Amino acid sequence: MQNIEELGKIVSKSNALFMIDCVTSIAGTEILFDDWNIDFSYAGSQKCLASPPGLSPCAMSEKAYQYIKNRKTKPSSWYLDLTLVNDYWNKEHIPQYTVAVSSIYALYESLRLLEEEGIENRWTRHKVNAEKLRKGLSEIELNLPISTEDRLDQLTVVTKPDHIDDVEFRNKLIYDYNIEIGRGLGDFAGKVSRIGLMGESCKSEYVDLILDVFSKEI
Ligand SMILES: *Cc1c(COP(=O)(O)O)cnc(C)c1O
Repeated sequence: MQNIEELGKIVSKSNALFMIDCVTSIAGTEILFDDWNIDFSYAGSQKCLASPPGLSPCAMSEKAYQYIKNRKTKPSSWYLDLTLVNDYWNKEHIPQYTVAVSSIYALYESLRLLEEEGIENRWTRHKVNAEKLRKGLSEIELNLPISTEDRLDQLTVVTKPDHIDDVEFRNKLIYDYNIEIGRGLGDFAGKVSRIGLMGESCKSEYVDLILDVFSKEI
């Protein structure tokens, strides 16, 4: 978990623009876009929003919008040119491509479910289930390498004991139990497992299941 509020204060004293990746955070944890001086953020529909993959909700500050509008060099890729999206959003309504309407209907439905649950309740659900998972993993004497204050509720990193082969273990989970967990990345490759509890997968009974499987297989 990054301390975005503090970083935002530092960036706001400069001319720099502040961009954050909210793919895991959106709907799983509080994000105060304006209060934390964020200029641009992008997210994904498929994690804590619990919608099918394919859409990337974005937000931008007035400062970021003016920067994009006035930039002197064109973006190198057509796909990332937000001025084209803007031409569609504004009153001229110039279409650039076919909008993925079915994905938007799906997102609408997932937002309706989010409203029904309540956003604060959804944050709490992620917190409560993550706490239960961390407690259970500690009880089977597995090590959680991330310090308490840096932990993210949506993703739990757990050290893999030396006698367990990473690939073999993850394949066993998929084929025998229908559970997919992540591998470590970069310096953590082969050393940790990453367990995601996001959106629909963030349920107490799934935490019970994974703890059961970990205590049997490790
Ligand atoms: C999952 C994730 C991504 C990747 O998102 P995709 O839509 O799967 O490409 C990027 N950033 C963060 C923080 C994520 O959790």
